[in-house]
Amino acid sequence: MYIVSACLAGIRCRYDGRCNTDEFVQSLVKEGKAVPICPEVLGGLPIPRVPCEIISHEDTRWVMNRDGEDMTGEFVAGARKTLQIARVLGVKTAILKSKSPSCGCGRIYDGTFTGRLIDGDGITCRLLKDNGIEVYTEENLPHH
Ligand code: SF4
Repeated sequence: MYIVSACLAGIRCRYDGRCNTDEFVQSLVKEGKAVPICPEVLGGLPIPRVPCEIISHEDTRWVMNRDGEDMTGEFVAGARKTLQIARVLGVKTAILKSKSPSCGCGRIYDGTFTGRLIDGDGITCRLLKDNGIEVYTEENLPHH
């Protein structure tokens, strides 16, 4: 069993009300092999919502939306709920949407809302990895 970013499964949960359907990920869900989750919605954010990026300074990271509001609490809440779901399901592997401030794995936007990428993980991706769950993206799928 996998958990997968809901937007990759065709669920319109992105900040702009759209999705990023990936056929392989969607087929896993249709076959009952994956459960779709959206950490930002689980954290209480609406669809649509103001886009967010992670700001890092030294060892501290927080999440700001494009209007300058701190959304860290919602992002952390969504990450924790995602981890709970993974634990209940006994999930060892996740496939999460690349570059997102929640789901991104390895590369994320740099916090300036200019489309620039830096090394780093989204808040949910990091929490899952810290708890021993392997994280892939739609650009780097597990072997199948
Ligand atoms: Fe997709 Fe993750 Fe963003 Fe939700 S939080 S829309 S699942 S990338």
